[in-house]
Amino acid sequence: MNMTIEKELELINGYTRSTLSAEDVYIFSVTLCDNEVDRDFERFSTESLALLGELFKGKTGISDHSMRSADQRARIFRTYTEKQPGKKTSCGEDYTALKARAYMLRTDENASLIKEIEGGIKKEVSIGCAMKDCLCSVCGKDMKRHLCEHIKGKLYGDKLCHGILKNPTDAYEWSFVAVPAQRNAGVTKAFNKEEKREKMTIEKFKNLKEDTLITAEELESLKAHIGSLENLASEGRAYREHLISEIKRYALIIMPTVNLSAFIKGCDCMDIGEVKSLCKSLREQADSRIPAAPQLAPVKETHSSDNSYFKI
Ligand SMILES: [Zn+2]
Repeated sequence: MNMTIEKELELINGYTRSTLSAEDVYIFSVTLCDNEVDRDFERFSTESLALLGELFKGKTGISDHSMRSADQRARIFRTYTEKQPGKKTSCGEDYTALKARAYMLRTDENASLIKEIEGGIKKEVSIGCAMKDCLCSVCGKDMKRHLCEHIKGKLYGDKLCHGILKNPTDAYEWSFVAVPAQRNAGVTKAFNKEEKREKMTIEKFKNLKEDTLITAEELESLKAHIGSLENLASEGRAYREHLISEIKRYALIIMPTVNLSAFIKGCDCMDIGEVKSLCKSLREQADSRIPAAPQLAPVKETHSSDNSYFKI
């Protein structure tokens, strides 16, 4: 979207104390994000892009993994959405990108960064933002509050389940990153400030290729992240143990003479999905064996010679 330099300077000078002229500033464009499904199997709804753009106005950008506020050298002064004629997303919508125009002062300190931007070396940016809603693409229910049973990244019929992000509530800083290996690797979404800081910190360390310093705040974020992973892991272990004890119970009902410890040993090399589906199929078979079982589904007519009891 074109705009005259005079008009852009007017917008820039809305953010500065002294009036800047065209010679004082270096103006460039960046793509902040788009409406394509990303590596987290989430996408921004097309209308949320424009709303997010409003929130990014005036936000400063930092270069790479620099932590000093002195390195917050560029500021977004205008944003707009842009379609690409004929280009569709994987969901069949018009591909739309959220673009930003940013400026930085033409100072000696900024000279090398300006060169890198002009040379196309610095062109990918990562952003951090907070979104209020994440709706399931299959059923439309709120995935953030776990109101549906669909799993992001899985196919349901020919529909890929993903989260549709709506109603942005905040935009945080944006920063230049080394060209990400994955498509759309630069978007960090979070639902609150702590989560956002944690995600941004982890993203930073994932992208690192050299020695770095770590701030106390980042250290806290990493500790919090490790803590939440440990909680998840222990919950996962407890769930797995619960499933295994269920499997033992059902196995004894269906196959009273089975070598139980050998049978259970086989579960060790299964992932949690396989254990879950084994447990489910054993439960169904056990339920049909003992019609008095409490969580009884309608009993199907079965024949005692039906070998499917023994299929797992
Ligand atoms: Zn759903």
